[in-house]
Amino acid sequence: MTTSDTHTLSGRVAVVTGASSGIGESTAEALAAKGAAVAVTARRQDRLDALARRIEAAGGTALPLALDVTDPDAVAAVAARVQDQLGRVDLVFANAGVMLPAPIEELRRDQWDQQIDLNLKGLLYTIEAFVPSLVAAAAEGGPADLISTSSIAAQHLFPNFAVYSATKAFVTHLTDHLRMELGPKLVRTTTIEPGIVATELQSHVTDAGAQAWLEGAARSIQFLAPEDVARLVAFVAEQPRHVNLSHIRILPTQQQS
Ligand code: NDP
Repeated sequence: MTTSDTHTLSGRVAVVTGASSGIGESTAEALAAKGAAVAVTARRQDRLDALARRIEAAGGTALPLALDVTDPDAVAAVAARVQDQLGRVDLVFANAGVMLPAPIEELRRDQWDQQIDLNLKGLLYTIEAFVPSLVAAAAEGGPADLISTSSIAAQHLFPNFAVYSATKAFVTHLTDHLRMELGPKLVRTTTIEPGIVATELQSHVTDAGAQAWLEGAARSIQFLAPEDVARLVAFVAEQPRHVNLSHIRILPTQQQS
């Protein structure tokens, strides 16, 4: 393989939300390794700085920017900074999310709000801030990608995951529907629905039943690694611009549901 084969994303400007850990962190590294300049965003600045240092040490370009995507003004401000410092964004990986399963009868309105604010509204604010530059990039003849992280939970029923699953169904349906508007403008949209990935996501779970289910799954299934999803995102983005991998499920081989 030649250097130009490996730098399939050279000249691309990417934004990754939820880049301080897990799938987002790994994807930022994968995109940068293929030549994209990557704005890495999340709330934990120290983690972003460390990631940016690793990317730069490997010869890539990274811009670490603290961002809470539930604040639409903050997302708009970050979009302006990325435009100034890296150029026009043509690859958005809208990935930040939180999973807080609990029986509905526990009436955890705080957790419902947290999941809706981040998984659903945070995605919309990301789209609001970056779709204009994706459309502009495509209009000028380049590739443009809006890639969202949904979940297998968008399609499957899991006990006590109702609110999380509903937020991910929103992610899938929104992204699929946007294809109708953005596809004709040559902006590709992609929904990725992973099964279980070994990340910090499970560490936020407070419900004992869900924790037990996840621990049982970890004993019987080899979870995906964040790098497995990262490779997929890079593969999606490096396709010729008339090719849109629009809706992808990636599962641990042993995961049945
Ligand atoms: P992690 O918990 O490792 O990553 C979540 C990321 O979201 C972190 O970088 C976190 O950073 C960021 N984040 C949380 N709140 C906010 C906020 N308000 N504003 C901006 N960023 C925020 O888990 P994963 O990597 O697993 O999760 C990534 C995505 O993958 C999520 O959407 C999740 O739902 C989805 N997913 C995960 C699966 C799994 O099994 N792990 C399976 C299917 C889908 P910080 O705290 O620094 O802000």
